[in-house]
Amino acid sequence: MAAKEKSCLNCRTIYFGDKCPNCGETPASESFKGRIHIFDSEKSEMAENMKINSDGEFAIKSK
Ligand SMILES: [Zn+2]
Repeated sequence: MAAKEKSCLNCRTIYFGDKCPNCGETPASESFKGRIHIFDSEKSEMAENMKINSDGEFAIKSK
């Protein structure tokens, strides 16, 4: 069984499974581009720019 990675369309978290573990939303895309790791969202400029306020792995672009 090969689960496909997908990116939440709501918060851009990259995850496997049925729904986003971060926000609980189900709309997701398997065709996302790029990924970043946020380790300390409160101090990360990248997180601030992308309006991400939790730690984890996120797609840079998803559609
Ligand atoms: Zn989400």
